[in-house]
Amino acid sequence: MADQKDFPVIFELSKEGRKGCSLPDLDVPEVDLASEFGDDYIRTDEPDLPELSELQLIRHYTALSRRNYGVDTGFYPLGSCTMKYNPKMNEDVARFEGFSHVHPLQETETVQGSLELMYDLQTSLEEISGMNTVTLQPAAGAHGEWTGLMMIRAYHEQNGDTERTEVIVPDSAHGTNPASATVAGFKAVTVKTDENGLVDLEDLKRVVGPKTAAFMLTNPNTLGLFEEHILEMAEIVHDAGGKLYYDGANLNAIMGYVRPGDMGFDVVHLNLHKTFTGPHGGGGPGSGPIGITAELAPFLPKPVLVKNGDFFEFDYNRPHSIGRVKPYYGNFGINVRAYTYIRTMGPDGLKKVSEYAVLNANYVMRRLQEKYALPFDQHCKHEFVLSGKNQKKLGVRTLDIAKRLLDYGFHPPTIYFPLNVEEAMMMEPTETESKETLDEFIDAMLEIAKETEDQPELVQDAPHTTVVSRLDETLAARKPVLRYMKED
Ligand SMILES: *Cc1c(COP(=O)(O)O)cnc(C)c1O
Repeated sequence: MADQKDFPVIFELSKEGRKGCSLPDLDVPEVDLASEFGDDYIRTDEPDLPELSELQLIRHYTALSRRNYGVDTGFYPLGSCTMKYNPKMNEDVARFEGFSHVHPLQETETVQGSLELMYDLQTSLEEISGMNTVTLQPAAGAHGEWTGLMMIRAYHEQNGDTERTEVIVPDSAHGTNPASATVAGFKAVTVKTDENGLVDLEDLKRVVGPKTAAFMLTNPNTLGLFEEHILEMAEIVHDAGGKLYYDGANLNAIMGYVRPGDMGFDVVHLNLHKTFTGPHGGGGPGSGPIGITAELAPFLPKPVLVKNGDFFEFDYNRPHSIGRVKPYYGNFGINVRAYTYIRTMGPDGLKKVSEYAVLNANYVMRRLQEKYALPFDQHCKHEFVLSGKNQKKLGVRTLDIAKRLLDYGFHPPTIYFPLNVEEAMMMEPTETESKETLDEFIDAMLEIAKETEDQPELVQDAPHTTVVSRLDETLAARKPVLRYMKED
């Protein structure tokens, strides 16, 4: 653990009487607060606030911000939930006053431009995903999953099909899939992955049936592999009366090449804060629009944005709607960024994104294969999963490798996910990194593999260069210390 002095708490910098700001003289009549509100409401002791100069304060927070790691500071190969490219132009556009200063309760006549942007974004996403209608209301991927499943539920109920209580989810699925199914009132049923890393068709045939409400699939799946039997699976599920749900959180492997709608899917969610460049640090805000088939349109969350002639407005008269799923109309700021990105790239640009995402992932995967086990040895799409099982035999675990990467200045990959790979390391280099950056990362990974063989303790005790070393993450989550208390 680094010296606490390296990591000062702002209270410890405090010196009595020091000031970082000056308030103007009072230019309104002074009010006697005690007679106005009563003595009980008037505090008598001074608040215990740190007293610092402006420079101290600025330096303190600037120093803290530089200890943060983000996509603007370095390579971030996190698989699945990757923070991708955050173009700065998006930020400029999202700050245009016409977008940033509107109020959701304004009369629609006064916000036609914003509504047009939302409408055009929906249309673009419909084209990209091959779906009939898109709603921008869901605020994140998981929220989109839940919204889509609630619509599927409403659809089955309308058909009097009330026995459909199960949602099938592959064992490699993102954790939000079974969670959303459960929250939507279904029972999540697992289907296995076969030895090629794809959904086991025989197992799917075994679990599908009259109770199946839907099958949720990520494609490319979380192993980064394209589900080759996708059309066959669609047929199996549809023949049994179930609906197909596509987890399209990471569309950057297939955009411009294939579309969930053409694969037979009934609902798809897209993460605009992943594929479509919305920054999602610190847990939000996100945007997880869903696309649906025409058959499901009556159940869309309301209000639905419609275009009458040249006029954009909200349709509230939706008797079969599942209701509102978000106050107002979705996370507009993230939608502006996604729209800007799509318009900047154009159809050919989005296709190039897929090409580079897949090329970069395969390049890194093939070079790392020299030292790390590759459980499913096939071409990957935008991401791939390695296993640290060779290193584990030498006493170095995947967690140690991830920590050692910090010493080399890289954000670690996703580890121990998906669950069906021992000592998993899931990596997504993304489409925007240069070959030089990819090579530096690969070299670091290969160097760590060498250290594992020659001096394992160096890896086991990592990180050595960060402000704090290994943290007790469980304790931090279970018993967070959220309030600073001065030691007397
Ligand atoms: C990120 C992700 C999700 C969940 O999206 P959130 O916006 O974090 O709720 C779901 N599925 C996959 C495959 C993802 O990568």
